[in-house]
Amino acid sequence: MAILEIRDLHVQRDGKEILKGVNLKTGPGEVHAIMGPNGSGKSTLSYTILGHPKYEVTKGDILLDGESILGLSPDERSKKGLFLAFQYPTEVAGVGYSHFLRTAYNALSKSLADEKREVFLTVREFQNYLKKNLDEVGLKHDFLSRYLNEGFSGGEKKRSEVLQMAVLQPRISILDEPDSGLDIDAVQAVAKAISSVSRKDATVIVITHYARILKFLDKLDYVHVMAQGKMIKEGPKELADELEQKGYSWLGIQETTE
Ligand code: ADP
Ligand code: MG
Ligand code: MG
Repeated sequence: MAILEIRDLHVQRDGKEILKGVNLKTGPGEVHAIMGPNGSGKSTLSYTILGHPKYEVTKGDILLDGESILGLSPDERSKKGLFLAFQYPTEVAGVGYSHFLRTAYNALSKSLADEKREVFLTVREFQNYLKKNLDEVGLKHDFLSRYLNEGFSGGEKKRSEVLQMAVLQPRISILDEPDSGLDIDAVQAVAKAISSVSRKDATVIVITHYARILKFLDKLDYVHVMAQGKMIKEGPKELADELEQKGYSWLGIQETTE
């Protein structure tokens, strides 16, 4: 069980207020979408939840299962089961992919102390688990012999991030524009990974500008619309379709280009 609650969150970066009172609550197994035009503060919100040091919380709180996480480092937050797929994943030279994943998976299992999570003691056991996950998200098995993000194309990096999510089974995942720059097959792979973790009671928050990826999800419980550092509208999944048809201007939002 994991409940994430964001209360009246105000955040500054370099002295400029970017988030101006954000509220959000998610429950286990729920899939949420946060939509909004460029510059509305979506990435700021995800970095702040994960504890990026450049984002200063000046008011409000972020609670995980009723306890504030504001005092925790990014590492401590990830040990509690929070996961952020970065918009631009970085390369980790020389780190074997499956080794990285097994180490991270086992560390998370230990820190969550959840008896439903297995700890994989042998490399072979873990390889089998990995292959199952690769199949589930539509990735080829040779992905495993690669090095983490090294020489990955943009699309491969995104697929790699969602594979990490499917494998690690974090309690709460935040995917910041996992669909940007992807072809339709990759978008579907990302959507499959999201559906696979949400079936296992994990929460997923998908941040996206476009409704396209949302159509491939098995389920989508809530759509939140963000503009100018605030949540301005919330609704069921049909809200995403409506936004796609009518554009953000329908809600009186000015689209700006960055
Ligand atoms: P989104 O992810 O929705 O496109 P961002 O969170 O990236 O929005 O940005 C929100 C706002 O914060 C934008 O207006 C942007 O110009 C501003 N911003 C981003 N980075 C900085 C920074 N380093 N210093 C000051 N303002 C910033
Ligand atoms: Mg942006
Ligand atoms: Mg962004």
